[in-house]
Amino acid sequence: MTVRCKRGGLWLAAVLVSLVLAACELGGWSVLPGGAGGISAAAAPPVNAAVTETVTPFLPEPVTLTLTASRTPTVTRTPRHSPTPSSSPTPENTPTPAWDFHPAGELTAPVLLYHHVNDQESNLYTVTTTDFRNQMKVLAERGYTTIPISLLLRAVRDGAPLPPKPLVITFDDGNRDVYTRAYPILQEFGFTASVYLVVNYLDRGESILSHEQIDELLAAGWEFGSHSMSHTELTRDYSNLWYEVSRSRYELEEYLGTDVITFAYPYGVMDTVVQRSVRETFEAGLGLGTSSLHTPDSLFYLSRIEVRRSTSLADFKALIP
Ligand SMILES: [Zn+2]
Repeated sequence: MTVRCKRGGLWLAAVLVSLVLAACELGGWSVLPGGAGGISAAAAPPVNAAVTETVTPFLPEPVTLTLTASRTPTVTRTPRHSPTPSSSPTPENTPTPAWDFHPAGELTAPVLLYHHVNDQESNLYTVTTTDFRNQMKVLAERGYTTIPISLLLRAVRDGAPLPPKPLVITFDDGNRDVYTRAYPILQEFGFTASVYLVVNYLDRGESILSHEQIDELLAAGWEFGSHSMSHTELTRDYSNLWYEVSRSRYELEEYLGTDVITFAYPYGVMDTVVQRSVRETFEAGLGLGTSSLHTPDSLFYLSRIEVRRSTSLADFKALIP
Protein backbone atom coordinates (compact mmCIF):
# COMPACT_ATOMS: atom_id res chain seq x y z
CA MET A 1 0.00 0.00 0.00
CA THR A 2 2.81 2.34 0.93
CA VAL A 3 4.48 1.56 -2.34
CA ARG A 4 1.32 2.34 -4.20
CA CYS A 5 0.90 5.66 -2.42
CA LYS A 6 4.49 6.57 -3.13
CA ARG A 7 4.04 5.61 -6.73
CA GLY A 8 0.86 7.66 -6.89
CA GLY A 9 2.65 10.61 -5.30
CA LEU A 10 5.63 10.32 -7.63
CA TRP A 11 3.39 10.05 -10.62
CA LEU A 12 1.39 13.04 -9.51
CA ALA A 13 4.63 15.00 -9.02
CA ALA A 14 5.84 13.93 -12.45
CA VAL A 15 2.58 14.95 -14.03
CA LEU A 16 2.66 18.32 -12.31
CA VAL A 17 6.27 18.90 -13.37
CA SER A 18 5.44 18.07 -16.97
CA LEU A 19 2.41 20.33 -16.77
CA VAL A 20 4.56 23.16 -15.46
CA LEU A 21 7.11 22.52 -18.18
CA ALA A 22 4.41 22.29 -20.80
CA ALA A 23 2.85 25.45 -19.46
CA CYS A 24 6.19 27.23 -19.63
CA GLU A 25 6.73 26.03 -23.13
CA LEU A 26 3.28 27.06 -24.15
CA GLY A 27 3.71 30.37 -22.37
CA GLY A 28 7.01 30.91 -24.16
CA TRP A 29 5.57 29.91 -27.50
CA SER A 30 2.52 32.16 -27.10
CA VAL A 31 4.75 35.21 -26.71
CA LEU A 32 5.68 34.99 -30.35
CA PRO A 33 2.26 35.12 -31.96
CA GLY A 34 0.85 37.32 -29.19
CA GLY A 35 -2.63 36.87 -27.72
CA ALA A 36 -3.88 35.78 -24.31
CA GLY A 37 -0.82 33.71 -23.43
CA GLY A 38 1.39 36.56 -24.42
CA ILE A 39 -0.02 38.77 -21.74
CA SER A 40 1.30 36.66 -18.86
CA ALA A 41 4.62 36.08 -20.57
CA ALA A 42 4.82 39.79 -21.22
CA ALA A 43 4.80 40.36 -17.47
CA ALA A 44 7.99 38.30 -17.48
CA PRO A 45 10.39 40.04 -15.03
CA PRO A 46 9.44 38.06 -11.91
CA VAL A 47 9.95 34.56 -13.26
CA ASN A 48 7.85 32.86 -10.59
CA ALA A 49 4.92 35.11 -11.18
CA ALA A 50 5.11 34.38 -14.88
CA VAL A 51 5.10 30.63 -14.23
CA THR A 52 2.24 30.84 -11.81
CA GLU A 53 0.10 32.90 -14.06
CA THR A 54 0.93 30.88 -17.09
CA VAL A 55 0.20 27.60 -15.39
CA THR A 56 -3.08 28.60 -13.86
CA PRO A 57 -5.16 28.69 -17.05
CA PHE A 58 -3.90 25.25 -18.03
CA LEU A 59 -4.30 23.54 -14.67
CA PRO A 60 -8.00 23.11 -14.00
CA GLU A 61 -8.64 20.35 -16.49
CA PRO A 62 -5.44 18.30 -16.07
CA VAL A 63 -5.51 18.65 -12.25
CA THR A 64 -8.93 17.08 -12.02
CA LEU A 65 -7.75 14.15 -14.08
CA THR A 66 -4.50 13.82 -12.17
CA LEU A 67 -6.16 13.70 -8.76
CA THR A 68 -8.67 11.13 -9.87
CA ALA A 69 -5.96 8.91 -11.23
CA SER A 70 -3.72 9.17 -8.19
CA ARG A 71 -6.59 8.42 -5.83
CA THR A 72 -7.56 5.21 -7.52
CA PRO A 73 -5.00 3.00 -5.72
CA THR A 74 -6.06 4.46 -2.37
CA VAL A 75 -9.67 3.55 -2.95
CA THR A 76 -8.92 0.03 -4.14
CA ARG A 77 -6.20 -0.64 -1.60
CA THR A 78 -7.99 -3.35 0.36
CA PRO A 79 -7.03 -6.56 -1.41
CA ARG A 80 -9.37 -9.37 -0.45
CA HIS A 81 -6.72 -11.57 1.06
CA SER A 82 -4.96 -9.25 3.47
CA PRO A 83 -6.85 -9.23 6.75
CA THR A 84 -4.76 -6.64 8.57
CA PRO A 85 -6.31 -7.21 12.00
CA SER A 86 -5.05 -10.80 12.13
CA SER A 87 -1.67 -9.79 13.44
CA SER A 88 -3.05 -7.78 16.34
CA PRO A 89 -2.76 -9.43 19.74
CA THR A 90 -5.91 -10.56 21.43
CA PRO A 91 -6.89 -9.86 25.00
CA GLU A 92 -7.89 -13.48 25.67
CA ASN A 93 -4.56 -14.89 24.57
CA THR A 94 -2.36 -12.30 26.16
CA PRO A 95 -0.25 -13.66 29.00
CA THR A 96 -1.08 -12.27 32.44
CA PRO A 97 1.00 -12.50 35.62
CA ALA A 98 -0.84 -15.76 36.31
CA TRP A 99 0.79 -17.35 33.27
CA ASP A 100 3.85 -19.50 33.96
CA PHE A 101 6.54 -20.69 31.63
CA HIS A 102 5.89 -24.28 30.70
CA PRO A 103 9.12 -26.07 29.82
CA ALA A 104 9.16 -28.22 26.68
CA GLY A 105 7.64 -31.63 27.23
CA GLU A 106 4.35 -33.17 28.18
CA LEU A 107 1.37 -30.97 28.86
CA THR A 108 -2.13 -31.61 30.11
CA ALA A 109 -4.62 -29.47 28.20
CA PRO A 110 -7.94 -30.72 26.85
CA VAL A 111 -8.45 -30.13 23.12
CA LEU A 112 -12.16 -30.20 22.35
CA LEU A 113 -13.64 -30.90 18.93
CA TYR A 114 -17.03 -29.62 17.76
CA HIS A 115 -18.66 -29.53 14.33
CA HIS A 116 -22.02 -27.77 14.57
CA VAL A 117 -23.66 -25.66 17.26
CA ASN A 118 -27.31 -24.86 16.50
CA ASP A 119 -30.91 -25.61 17.45
CA GLN A 120 -32.19 -26.50 13.97
CA GLU A 121 -30.34 -29.69 13.09
CA SER A 122 -30.52 -32.85 15.17
CA ASN A 123 -27.70 -34.97 13.78
CA LEU A 124 -24.90 -36.66 15.67
CA TYR A 125 -22.49 -33.77 15.24
CA THR A 126 -24.78 -30.91 16.21
CA VAL A 127 -24.67 -29.63 19.78
CA THR A 128 -27.57 -27.40 20.90
CA THR A 129 -26.80 -23.84 21.95
CA THR A 130 -28.04 -24.64 25.48
CA ASP A 131 -25.73 -27.65 25.80
CA PHE A 132 -22.84 -25.70 24.32
CA ARG A 133 -23.33 -22.82 26.77
CA ASN A 134 -23.58 -25.23 29.71
CA GLN A 135 -20.36 -26.90 28.62
CA MET A 136 -18.55 -23.57 28.32
CA LYS A 137 -19.85 -22.67 31.77
CA VAL A 138 -18.31 -25.83 33.22
CA LEU A 139 -14.97 -24.96 31.60
CA ALA A 140 -15.07 -21.40 32.93
CA GLU A 141 -16.01 -22.59 36.43
CA ARG A 142 -13.12 -25.01 36.38
CA GLY A 143 -10.78 -22.13 35.63
CA TYR A 144 -9.82 -22.98 32.06
CA THR A 145 -8.33 -20.37 29.72
CA THR A 146 -8.45 -20.98 25.99
CA ILE A 147 -5.20 -20.86 24.05
CA PRO A 148 -4.63 -21.17 20.29
CA ILE A 149 -3.50 -24.59 19.08
CA SER A 150 -0.21 -23.01 17.93
CA LEU A 151 0.59 -22.09 21.54
CA LEU A 152 -0.12 -25.62 22.73
CA LEU A 153 2.25 -27.10 20.21
CA ARG A 154 4.92 -24.50 20.97
CA ALA A 155 4.64 -25.22 24.69
CA VAL A 156 5.04 -28.96 24.13
CA ARG A 157 7.83 -28.67 21.57
CA ASP A 158 9.86 -25.66 22.72
CA GLY A 159 8.35 -24.46 25.99
CA ALA A 160 6.14 -21.36 26.29
CA PRO A 161 4.24 -19.26 28.84
CA LEU A 162 0.83 -20.76 29.59
CA PRO A 163 -2.19 -19.96 31.74
CA PRO A 164 -2.74 -22.21 34.76
CA LYS A 165 -5.35 -24.39 33.02
CA PRO A 166 -4.95 -24.21 29.25
CA LEU A 167 -7.69 -25.45 26.95
CA VAL A 168 -8.06 -25.57 23.16
CA ILE A 169 -11.48 -25.50 21.49
CA THR A 170 -11.57 -26.60 17.85
CA PHE A 171 -14.26 -26.73 15.18
CA ASP A 172 -13.91 -28.88 12.09
CA ASP A 173 -15.24 -28.17 8.58
CA GLY A 174 -15.79 -24.37 8.92
CA ASN A 175 -19.57 -24.47 9.34
CA ARG A 176 -21.27 -21.10 9.47
CA ASP A 177 -23.02 -21.77 12.78
CA VAL A 178 -19.57 -21.61 14.37
CA TYR A 179 -19.82 -17.87 13.71
CA THR A 180 -23.55 -17.33 14.18
CA ARG A 181 -24.12 -19.58 17.22
CA ALA A 182 -20.89 -20.67 18.89
CA TYR A 183 -18.91 -17.44 18.60
CA PRO A 184 -21.35 -15.27 20.63
CA ILE A 185 -21.46 -17.89 23.39
CA LEU A 186 -17.67 -18.19 23.45
CA GLN A 187 -17.44 -14.41 23.72
CA GLU A 188 -19.61 -14.52 26.86
CA PHE A 189 -16.86 -16.54 28.50
CA GLY A 190 -13.88 -14.75 26.92
CA PHE A 191 -12.98 -17.91 24.98
CA THR A 192 -11.44 -18.24 21.52
CA ALA A 193 -11.16 -21.26 19.24
CA SER A 194 -9.33 -22.78 16.31
CA VAL A 195 -11.19 -23.75 13.12
CA TYR A 196 -10.18 -26.37 10.54
CA LEU A 197 -11.24 -25.37 7.05
CA VAL A 198 -11.80 -27.53 3.99
CA VAL A 199 -10.42 -25.49 1.10
CA ASN A 200 -12.92 -26.66 -1.53
CA TYR A 201 -15.85 -25.78 0.76
CA LEU A 202 -14.85 -22.12 0.96
CA ASP A 203 -17.04 -19.56 -0.80
CA ARG A 204 -19.58 -22.29 -1.55
CA GLY A 205 -22.72 -20.89 -0.01
CA GLU A 206 -24.49 -20.03 3.17
CA SER A 207 -23.62 -23.07 5.26
CA ILE A 208 -19.88 -22.32 5.35
CA LEU A 209 -18.10 -19.42 7.06
CA SER A 210 -17.82 -16.42 4.75
CA HIS A 211 -14.51 -14.69 4.15
CA GLU A 212 -15.70 -11.69 6.15
CA GLN A 213 -16.67 -13.89 9.10
CA ILE A 214 -13.30 -15.61 8.98
CA ASP A 215 -11.55 -12.24 8.98
CA GLU A 216 -13.59 -11.16 12.00
CA LEU A 217 -12.70 -14.33 13.88
CA LEU A 218 -9.03 -13.89 13.00
CA ALA A 219 -9.18 -10.36 14.35
CA ALA A 220 -10.74 -11.73 17.55
CA GLY A 221 -7.74 -14.01 18.09
CA TRP A 222 -9.07 -17.20 16.53
CA GLU A 223 -6.78 -19.48 14.56
CA PHE A 224 -7.36 -21.45 11.40
CA GLY A 225 -5.85 -24.70 10.20
CA SER A 226 -6.25 -27.03 7.26
CA HIS A 227 -8.75 -29.87 7.11
CA SER A 228 -7.57 -30.85 3.57
CA MET A 229 -8.72 -29.73 0.13
CA SER A 230 -11.77 -31.95 -0.26
CA HIS A 231 -12.37 -33.76 3.07
CA THR A 232 -11.47 -37.14 1.68
CA GLU A 233 -10.20 -40.07 3.74
CA LEU A 234 -6.48 -39.69 3.09
CA THR A 235 -5.47 -43.32 3.57
CA ARG A 236 -7.59 -44.39 0.60
CA ASP A 237 -5.55 -42.79 -2.16
CA TYR A 238 -1.96 -41.75 -1.61
CA SER A 239 -1.72 -40.21 -5.07
CA ASN A 240 -3.83 -37.31 -3.75
CA LEU A 241 -1.70 -36.65 -0.70
CA TRP A 242 0.24 -33.71 -2.09
CA TYR A 243 -2.97 -32.08 -3.26
CA GLU A 244 -4.93 -32.74 -0.07
CA VAL A 245 -2.13 -31.88 2.36
CA SER A 246 0.51 -29.56 0.90
CA ARG A 247 -1.65 -27.68 -1.54
CA SER A 248 -4.28 -27.09 1.13
CA ARG A 249 -1.70 -25.19 3.17
CA TYR A 250 -0.70 -23.02 0.24
CA GLU A 251 -4.32 -22.30 -0.72
CA LEU A 252 -5.37 -21.48 2.83
CA GLU A 253 -2.44 -19.19 3.47
CA GLU A 254 -3.36 -17.29 0.31
CA TYR A 255 -6.98 -17.12 1.39
CA LEU A 256 -6.37 -16.13 5.00
CA GLY A 257 -3.25 -14.00 4.63
CA THR A 258 -1.78 -15.80 7.68
CA ASP A 259 0.44 -18.80 8.36
CA VAL A 260 -1.31 -22.14 8.49
CA ILE A 261 0.77 -24.56 10.55
CA THR A 262 -1.63 -27.27 11.74
CA PHE A 263 -3.67 -29.92 9.96
CA ALA A 264 -6.71 -31.88 11.15
CA TYR A 265 -7.01 -35.34 9.57
CA PRO A 266 -10.41 -35.74 7.89
CA TYR A 267 -12.44 -38.28 9.92
CA GLY A 268 -9.45 -38.47 12.27
CA VAL A 269 -8.00 -41.11 9.94
CA MET A 270 -4.30 -41.43 9.15
CA ASP A 271 -1.48 -43.96 8.79
CA THR A 272 2.30 -43.67 8.60
CA VAL A 273 2.28 -42.55 4.94
CA VAL A 274 -0.31 -39.86 5.57
CA GLN A 275 1.42 -38.75 8.75
CA ARG A 276 4.74 -38.42 6.93
CA SER A 277 3.10 -36.16 4.38
CA VAL A 278 1.60 -34.01 7.15
CA ARG A 279 4.97 -33.85 8.95
CA GLU A 280 6.61 -32.56 5.78
CA THR A 281 4.12 -29.72 5.46
CA PHE A 282 2.77 -28.84 8.92
CA GLU A 283 3.97 -28.46 12.50
CA ALA A 284 1.21 -30.58 14.03
CA GLY A 285 -1.59 -32.96 13.04
CA LEU A 286 -4.86 -33.22 14.97
CA GLY A 287 -6.77 -36.43 15.40
CA LEU A 288 -9.32 -37.88 17.79
CA GLY A 289 -9.01 -39.36 21.25
CA THR A 290 -9.98 -39.07 24.88
CA SER A 291 -6.67 -38.05 26.39
CA SER A 292 -5.80 -34.52 27.43
CA LEU A 293 -2.12 -35.35 27.77
CA HIS A 294 0.12 -34.22 24.93
CA THR A 295 3.79 -35.05 24.43
CA PRO A 296 6.42 -34.18 21.78
CA ASP A 297 5.70 -37.61 20.27
CA SER A 298 1.97 -36.99 19.95
CA LEU A 299 2.16 -33.71 18.01
CA PHE A 300 1.23 -35.40 14.73
CA TYR A 301 -1.79 -37.12 16.15
CA LEU A 302 -2.97 -34.77 18.87
CA SER A 303 -5.84 -36.24 20.84
CA ARG A 304 -9.04 -34.24 20.53
CA ILE A 305 -12.09 -34.97 22.64
CA GLU A 306 -15.08 -34.97 20.33
CA VAL A 307 -18.26 -33.49 21.79
CA ARG A 308 -21.41 -34.79 20.13
CA ARG A 309 -25.13 -34.22 20.46
CA SER A 310 -25.35 -37.30 22.67
CA THR A 311 -22.69 -36.04 25.10
CA SER A 312 -24.53 -35.34 28.35
CA LEU A 313 -23.28 -32.70 30.75
CA ALA A 314 -22.23 -35.49 33.12
CA ASP A 315 -20.27 -37.14 30.28
CA PHE A 316 -18.71 -33.80 29.43
CA LYS A 317 -17.63 -33.18 33.01
CA ALA A 318 -16.08 -36.64 33.13
CA LEU A 319 -14.13 -36.03 29.92
CA ILE A 320 -12.51 -32.84 31.17
CA PRO A 321 -9.73 -33.16 33.75
ZN1 LIG B 1 -14.33 -32.94 9.07
